[in-house]
Amino acid sequence: MLNQVQHDERGDGPQPFLYPPKLPTGPRMSKGPQRIRGTQDIWGEEADRFDAVVAAFDRVRRLYAFQHVHMPVFEATEVFARSIGETTDVVSKEMYTFEDRGGDSITLRPEFTAGICRAYLSEGWQQHAPLKLATHGPVFRYERPQKGRFRQFHQLDAEIIGTDAPAADVELLVLADQLLHELGIFDGITLQLNTLGDAATRDAWRAALVAHFEGHRGDLSEDSLARLDKNPLRILDSKDPRDRPIADAAPGIDDFLTPEAADFFAAVTAGLDAAGVAWTRNDRLVRGLDYYRHTAFEFVTDRLGAQGTVLAGGRYDGLVESLGGPHTPAVGWAAGIERLGMMIEAPQAENPEFVFIPVGPAAETFCQALIADFRRKGACCDMAFRGNLKKRMQKADAANASYVIICGDDEIAAGEITIRSLKSGDQIKRKLSDVERDPRVGRNHFLATVLAGIDGIKAPE
Ligand code: ATP
Ligand code: MG
Repeated sequence: MLNQVQHDERGDGPQPFLYPPKLPTGPRMSKGPQRIRGTQDIWGEEADRFDAVVAAFDRVRRLYAFQHVHMPVFEATEVFARSIGETTDVVSKEMYTFEDRGGDSITLRPEFTAGICRAYLSEGWQQHAPLKLATHGPVFRYERPQKGRFRQFHQLDAEIIGTDAPAADVELLVLADQLLHELGIFDGITLQLNTLGDAATRDAWRAALVAHFEGHRGDLSEDSLARLDKNPLRILDSKDPRDRPIADAAPGIDDFLTPEAADFFAAVTAGLDAAGVAWTRNDRLVRGLDYYRHTAFEFVTDRLGAQGTVLAGGRYDGLVESLGGPHTPAVGWAAGIERLGMMIEAPQAENPEFVFIPVGPAAETFCQALIADFRRKGACCDMAFRGNLKKRMQKADAANASYVIICGDDEIAAGEITIRSLKSGDQIKRKLSDVERDPRVGRNHFLATVLAGIDGIKAPE
């Protein structure tokens, strides 16, 4: 028997947390199968937080006219290997890759963008370009689990594919900013913004960076030495203290921006300023892969310790080409649902308006009919099935219900129910013949007929 759940000897069924929960004595609560490391069973307040984040995202993406898409959880491994790039941590160390029974190499998606670009090509979505798409769901990365870092975690994702307009970058950033405001977590979050320029800019900057880092070969960390050949831009965001002074002294991109690239960045920042979105320039913020262009950004907080990035993205004009498609400019972002959920205020739990308490077997069937009527009218109801009256009243109290409806054999015989307000203690008897059951009657009228005379509620005209 689980320590947390006390099974009532009188057959009352599981009663969660009626007694102070005992802490498990060992590391495991049971000897049976265990949760896989880095996965989560999300329930209770954590589930409410998760759902509040997703609901806000769904509301905001509609305001910005983004279509919702549902994407496969797994793809051919090459979808990620070709697009995210073999040199990244995600592809080289973090992917869940396996051979399926047909011998094909399959990977659980570590992010959404690559799969969406695959669909853009394989499903002919190109004819609808530019496309504004939003999705959310689980993603998988084999990382070291810690606070805010899981192996199955969940992302919100927004992409605009098929346009090179800086207005698309602006729209995505304003959407992200509005989402964080609607979640009530904007205090302490900053939008860090950078440009990676166009191809000519990037080639010139990269050459200057390589020359700079070559001059400090002896002082760089081993990781950064390895990056010097493959991915020198990544040295800029190294966290190793040996690299920091060298990275900080490296040439910035601004001296290498072509006029076109400078114009693009100016258009993005002007759009953000016009929309009232605050940003700060971080010219060390980079994306390692060659197909990243122009805008790169992160919304960063100091409230989550080492896991400070809550939302990150940028323009990836070369990604669709890396999957074998035509040149397709695109921009997008992703955010960790768990990290956002940890930051928001605990959402108001959804409390039932009515808890039904049938006393006796005849009353139970009777209440099943009545509660179905209430729910069909749109009232949120629960039923306290078992236990003595006191226990069931406690359950209704604990659920923070507004009213209890008590119904026993005596009441049925008299053709009435007892309604008690848990807020005021007011109690009335209501004739069942007065409960309006006409299907054409709406929720408010219905509730007024039920509750007339209690808590000052007036009967409908
Ligand atoms: P980090 O630097 O924290 O590893 P990342 O650069 O790998 O992040 P992205 O690939 O940009 O992250 O993913 C977008 C967002 O997904 C991150 O900003 C973060 O909120 C969230 N995220 C990334 N990895 C994890 C994880 N293992 N567990 C929970 N959330 C994560
Ligand atoms: Mg990572």
